[in-house]
Order: sequence, then structure tokens, then C-alpha cells
Amino acid sequence: MPEKIKIVVNEDRCYLCGGCAGVCPALAIKVSSTKWEFFQEKCISCRICINACPVGALTAKPLGVSE
Ligand code: SF4
Ligand code: SF4
Repeated sequence: MPEKIKIVVNEDRCYLCGGCAGVCPALAIKVSSTKWEFFQEKCISCRICINACPVGALTAKPLGVSE
């Protein structure tokens, strides 16, 4: 099992293109015309979304350590 992570968006960079939501195999990201949303309980920590974002708006934070 990979380390459990939380995905965090940099809202200054994200332009809501939906690319990350489209590649997420677990449907853990939802993008609408007004907001980016992450569902921790669905995320399988694969990191595909981070690499898919064209503007580098996503980062991973380890879960279980202080936030
Ligand atoms: S790490 Fe994987 S499962 Fe989690 S939101 Fe990104 S693409 Fe989806
Ligand atoms: S791929 Fe990047 S820019 Fe596009 S919606 Fe996701 S976080 Fe935002």
C-alpha cells in the first residue's frame, strides 16, 4: 500500500479544467465550473492527478502527521 496522502489544490493556479478529475481512477476529485473538490475517503493515493495537472496546481500531503 502506498503512503496515504491528501491532495491539496493551489486555487491560484487551478483553472478548473477538470483534467485531474478525468484521470482519477477512484473518482476522488470533482471539478465544476466554480470549484475543485476532493473526497478523502475515495482517494487511493495513486498520485496520478498530481502528474496530470497541466499547471502543477496539485500537491500531496501525508496523512497522519500534523496538518
Ligand atoms: S491520488 Fe489518485 S485516487 Fe487520489 S485524488 Fe489523485 S488520482 Fe485520485
Ligand atoms: S488538472 Fe489542475 S488546473 Fe485542471 S482542474 Fe485539476 S487541479 Fe485544476
